Amino acid sequence: MRKDPRHHIYERDNWTCQYCGRGGIESFEDWNEAWLAIDHIMPKKHGGSDEESNLVVACHTCNSVKAAEMCSSIAEAKEIIARKNEGRKRWFQKFVANDSADT
Ligand SMILES: [Zn+2]
Repeated sequence: MRKDPRHHIYERDNWTCQYCGRGGIESFEDWNEAWLAIDHIMPKKHGGSDEESNLVVACHTCNSVKAAEMCSSIAEAKEIIARKNEGRKRWFQKFVANDSADT
């Protein structure tokens, strides 16, 4: 089987989400849950390149939350994800947990 040409990116980042630290190397379960992929730190939509310096390993959740927002660094990505997760958390509490006791 041919190796993924981006395999070395996963190895560089130790099969760990660079945004939240979720790791996928310890066990199949971790790996399966993390659902790691390669993310463009600066989305291609915003002119991000395919250079290795613009590529990081990210878990499915971070990748989905970050989406194609304008972003220029890992630190900024973390801020974007944290901000959006706050909104998601409020949404969860309002519509899913339906419980205002814990806010
Ligand atoms: Zn993550």
